[in-house]
Amino acid sequence: MGDISQLSKEDLKTKLEHLQETYTSYQAKNLSLDMSRGKPCSEQVDLSKPMLNLVTSEDELKTPNGMDVGNYGGIDGIQEAKVLFSKIFEVEPKQVIIGGNSSLTLMHDSIARAMLFGVNGEKPWSQQEKIKFICPTPGYDRHFSLCEWFGIEMITVNLIEGGPDMDEVEKLVQSDESIKGIWCVPKYSNPTGQVYSDEVVDRLAQMETKATDFRIFWDNAYAIHHFSDHPNQLKNIDQACHEAGHGNRVLQFASTSKVTFPGAGLSAIASSPENIESIKSQISFQTIGPDKINQLRHVRFFEKEGSLEEHMKKHADIIRPKFEKVFERLELHLHGKEIATWLKPEGGYFISFNTLEGCAKKVVSLAKEAGVILTGAGATYPYGNDPFDQNIRIAPTYPSLEELHVAIDVLCICVEIVSIEKLLA
Ligand code: PMP
Repeated sequence: MGDISQLSKEDLKTKLEHLQETYTSYQAKNLSLDMSRGKPCSEQVDLSKPMLNLVTSEDELKTPNGMDVGNYGGIDGIQEAKVLFSKIFEVEPKQVIIGGNSSLTLMHDSIARAMLFGVNGEKPWSQQEKIKFICPTPGYDRHFSLCEWFGIEMITVNLIEGGPDMDEVEKLVQSDESIKGIWCVPKYSNPTGQVYSDEVVDRLAQMETKATDFRIFWDNAYAIHHFSDHPNQLKNIDQACHEAGHGNRVLQFASTSKVTFPGAGLSAIASSPENIESIKSQISFQTIGPDKINQLRHVRFFEKEGSLEEHMKKHADIIRPKFEKVFERLELHLHGKEIATWLKPEGGYFISFNTLEGCAKKVVSLAKEAGVILTGAGATYPYGNDPFDQNIRIAPTYPSLEELHVAIDVLCICVEIVSIEKLLA
């Protein structure tokens, strides 16, 4: 079938009746399918289980470098873990600090430090009149809730081909001293799957900012999460900032939440040597040393059980078919009907799906009534407010292929019902 908007009212009504019958039959199945959060499925998590046998009571608790991992110390992590993350960030190991299991904590703490103690010797953000962050949208809901939590005003800028609309970003940061940061998920962005272009990386690094205490929050959560053997390349932001004379501008974040265990992985922050020294001295008040046993487990795992790259291929083999299943069902049900668009990412954890304007909330709630849980409509925008009420984030990794098949079929029926109701209204 072609463009739905070309159908007569009578045809639309007949179609709506059929769709409602199918919807009711799905409701009768009492489905309970969750596509709301980007969680690895248990098959993915199981890939890392052998790690749990790599530090045992028989072992000497020492790193190859000779550091005692059972005791206090090593505030920035064991050398071998820093080397592991330095490859992900493409920086020197001395530019890395290993955190606990969550990179979100590192982002939270970076803002908290700026609030309490300031950045670059400037007044603490909490003592300045107003603090604003640029939020490229659609984006990651937890970045936006962090801003709300800290009372940071959010300014939305559209994500366009290749990254945020840089004309807009440059205009904003050049003129407003209260803009202190920008959130970036530069590779396989959550939720659009986009990869920032070299030009965008360069412009972010080079742009003049009115605030001298401006920081790029470079959340590279999906740096190594590609589906193919020919991954997209992301330009090195640390080097670009250094070359532009803004060496301290970028704070990079990553974790192994979607590499090993979301509940027991490693996170890390990378920045200029100067920033790292400053962060280290501040966290030395928080802890006398991190969980280095987990760090050693991770290092041994990637030494003994295969490289990071080989391990990520195993993840890709599990999740690629799930993304393909979603594309297949969307194509089958919605292609050519002119009521929805979606992007086809080459990595990451999400598919960004757009309905007709004003339909996303209704679609999500109709799907919920049929037992299919999606991320709340609006979540991909600051304050939960999608100005066009059209973006829905699909997270295909957690459900099984069979569950996904049904869940996407239900989603498509809901999209058709809501779109036809809009056309008939
Ligand atoms: N950043 C992004 C862009 C994410 O999508 C996620 C997980 N959904 C996180 C950070 C959370 O990372 P962590 O588990 O390391 O806190």
